[in-house]
Amino acid sequence: MTLTQKSAVVTGSTSGIGLAIARALAREGANVVLNGFGQPDEIERERAGIESEFGVKALYSAADMSKPEAIAGMIAEAEAAFGAVDVLVNNAGIQFVSAIEDFPVEKWDQIIAINLSSAFHAMRAAIPGMKKRGWGRIINTASAHSLVASPFKSAYVSAKHGIAGLTKTAALELATHKITVNCISPGYVWTPLVEKQIPDTMKARGLTKEQVIHDVLLAAQPTKEFVTVDQVAAIAVFLCSDAASQITGTNLSVDGGWTAA
Ligand code: NAD
Repeated sequence: MTLTQKSAVVTGSTSGIGLAIARALAREGANVVLNGFGQPDEIERERAGIESEFGVKALYSAADMSKPEAIAGMIAEAEAAFGAVDVLVNNAGIQFVSAIEDFPVEKWDQIIAINLSSAFHAMRAAIPGMKKRGWGRIINTASAHSLVASPFKSAYVSAKHGIAGLTKTAALELATHKITVNCISPGYVWTPLVEKQIPDTMKARGLTKEQVIHDVLLAAQPTKEFVTVDQVAAIAVFLCSDAASQITGTNLSVDGGWTAA
């Protein structure tokens, strides 16, 4: 148990990678704030399940990560409820697949807001408390697309390259405050985000579903396997541990060798 007496906010944690990270931090003893969209009864089941399984407190915030005031409000709520936000995981993200000339401008703005600017706003709100307490862990879910591009994902690739830069900048600003800032860059993980982009990828590339899965997604990863949500969550737990106190400003890949290739 590395996070007893600590509290964490995980954005975009009602499904996929974020939910696995929230559960893993709770397993280590942290109180957690879940955030994101979904069916209210399913969210409540996850929230209550975390409390009963791990003996911690879990709250749910419906804050929209495209809205700066809502993000600041969520951090303030977490600080009021738990006394602190010690761990901030900026994980909320969406995807949209289209050629640049057809890419809807509002989709571009939405992806930059949710996948990149939300991390800036959440850090802005959480850093003063972390500095006051002299400890903090900020983990940003980037992507293999923070290092390499794919066609038809202009906004996503731009946002993920941006979050890698924001991570390094924040790490330098906070280095003497015992606050580390890192990003994790998964390859393809089978979550709703990946599943939803298959029809548009089929259209953009003129492929069948099986071809998208095998010739686009799995073909990118030399291991030819999807990464699992728990493999990403394990890295988040490690980054919160004392063993990782000198790891800051890095971009840790968990991508089956994708970005080595
Ligand atoms: P997911 O769709 O399962 O989860 C996304 C989460 O973000 C959900 O909880 C959703 O409700 C939430 N969300 C979306 N818009 C939001 C908003 N406006 N405000 C608040 N919450 C919002 O997808 P996932 O694959 O688990 O993605 C999580 C993160 O991992 C994203 O940043 C994504 O870019 C990144 N990532 C995913 C993969 C992958 O292959 N799945 C690979 C690399 C990086």
